[in-house]
Amino acid sequence: MADLLREGAAMTDMACPACASPLFRLKNGTLWCAKDEKKVVVLKEGEELAKVTGSMALDAMEATLLAKINDLQNRMQNEQNVDELQKLSAALSGLLENLEKLRKVKQT
Ligand SMILES: [Zn+2]
Repeated sequence: MADLLREGAAMTDMACPACASPLFRLKNGTLWCAKDEKKVVVLKEGEELAKVTGSMALDAMEATLLAKINDLQNRMQNEQNVDELQKLSAALSGLLENLEKLRKVKQT
């Protein structure tokens, strides 16, 4: 960490999505997690969605989303109440949107 500061890196108020340590901005603009020793990419539009290069955090997130989508689909199949169905389908479309975003992040 001291080395990073000596090299002109600045501590930011952002936290690493994988380990929650403060992130550093290197002189070339790269965000860096000193703890993981990885480059971190934060998306402008989805502030919450951040990427640690080569991270398993994204895979875990994707697995969680897929499990929830699966769960919602099962619930929708058995749900007769229209109000409930609407809630479930709104939740489902939110999850699918997140999944899509996540997959875009993974491709970059
Ligand atoms: Zn980290």
